[in-house]
Amino acid sequence: MNSEATAPVIPHWIDGAERVSAGGRTAPVHNPATGEVAARVALANADEIDAAVASAQRGFQTWSRYSVAKRQTVLFAFRELLNARRGELAEIITAEHGKVLSDAMGEIMRGQEVVELACGFPHLTKGAYSENASSGIDVYSIKQPLGVVAIISPFNFPAMVPMWFFPVAIAAGNAVVLKPSEKDPSAALWIARLWAEAGLPDGVFTVLQGDRAAVDGLLESPVVQAVSFVGSTPIAQYIYETASRTGKRVQALGGAKNHMMVLPDADLDLVADQAVNAGYGAAGERCMAVSVVLAVEPVADALIEKIAERIQKLRIGNGAGDADGEPDMGPLITGEHRDRVAGYVDIAERDGGRIVVDGRGCTVEGHEDGFWFGPTLIDDLPTTSRAYQEEIFGPVLQVIRVSTFQEGLDLINSGRFGNGTAIFTNDGGAARRFQHEVQVGMIGINVPIPVPVAYHSFGGWKASLFGDAKAYGVHGFDFFTREKAVTSRWLDPAAHGGIDLGFPQNS
Ligand code: NAD
Repeated sequence: MNSEATAPVIPHWIDGAERVSAGGRTAPVHNPATGEVAARVALANADEIDAAVASAQRGFQTWSRYSVAKRQTVLFAFRELLNARRGELAEIITAEHGKVLSDAMGEIMRGQEVVELACGFPHLTKGAYSENASSGIDVYSIKQPLGVVAIISPFNFPAMVPMWFFPVAIAAGNAVVLKPSEKDPSAALWIARLWAEAGLPDGVFTVLQGDRAAVDGLLESPVVQAVSFVGSTPIAQYIYETASRTGKRVQALGGAKNHMMVLPDADLDLVADQAVNAGYGAAGERCMAVSVVLAVEPVADALIEKIAERIQKLRIGNGAGDADGEPDMGPLITGEHRDRVAGYVDIAERDGGRIVVDGRGCTVEGHEDGFWFGPTLIDDLPTTSRAYQEEIFGPVLQVIRVSTFQEGLDLINSGRFGNGTAIFTNDGGAARRFQHEVQVGMIGINVPIPVPVAYHSFGGWKASLFGDAKAYGVHGFDFFTREKAVTSRWLDPAAHGGIDLGFPQNS
């Protein structure tokens, strides 16, 4: 086991090489399944922030001059390398995040979809041309990259969330500075090495490790033109306000509290399976996890029984697998976060919630120091409780009973978040009304985790997204380019029109 003092230091990636200052600030990176400090991550200082941004600026000068064909070659090479070596990345994710290996592979595959979308960038960045818009005048618009852009990502998808943004940003000709979560920083470094192998010039993909100081350095830098942030709502709001004030383009995706509405006509076995998958997968550390099942009566009792029966059979353990194979669910990210989740279950209990299955105090034999929290199911929680109103981000599912579809819809719409939601029913009319009236950005109809495919865009409403652009898809290309409109006339010496001080009119 590494002691805090002997743990290796995870460096930045600046100018095509690892960089770390001797004696600089660091933070511990745990293996959540064992609780050990596996490494320490460098926390950027002012010199490193400056070096990262300056290198990215040089990278942009080079990269933005690459032809479309040459850029595409690098993107395809990255895709091929990632396909060949994604198992290595999955192991890194599991070791630092804790999620089971197949789930780590799943996040890589969803990120790879965006790389594949980005490989087709010429179609999405090609602009438009209007010949002879006015007599002898052509008008066309071209899409150009912004320059240096920053991506600030959360711990829960150390590969997929950065991949929502950087393939599109790089394809469009920008240089990226990625500030990953300090809790699982190694995936970003591995990705940087892969880009270098794919032939991306130095400085086009930079990894700046760090905490708030690194984020603030990027927000204050006049070189950084845009910020894509994903994380909790209070920080998303801070990023949105600060980046806007410093004149940057910004999209800041925040937290969530996703409801799954179950109508009485739904197949309850199907619903119970899906509620368990969506509530407890990745130990509930997903922004699209289902955290509330809205049971339209009279289904609640039967549904609770089916969910409870299923979750009691879930196997909790080291995400990397053990003698019995891969478990269903790994640990939480840190001991602090585990205690926070437990605190919410305490609040639910104090506020009158009935704890049907209690995950507090869960341990795994042989790994007693891991950050374990068992699947938890709560019934009868008043909607006035903080445990209902706030995001818990752990394996805690709450069942709220409502009498009618309308009551359920109103409850969803009264919430402050608007990331994802789902309805389970065989009634097409009800599903259609739900789709039309619910105030949420991503909706599943009999689909519990409706993360859109790469060519549709990802993003919530209300306190789940600050800014106007969602991630990837057409929104992504709009975000990472700016349009220039050109009005052009090649003078015909026989008919140039002479002097006229009036405002240009079409003819
Ligand atoms: P977080 O907000 O704590 O951290 C996100 C990033 O912000 C990290 O890189 C972190 O270093 C940085 N950061 C933290 N505190 C900061 C501060 N005071 N000033 C500046 N930067 C700061 O989020 P997290 O715990 O890493 O991730 C979990 C959260 O992310 C959950 O709320 C989850 O819902 C959300 N999330 C949302 C989406 C989405 O698509 N809407 C996707 C994934 C995760």
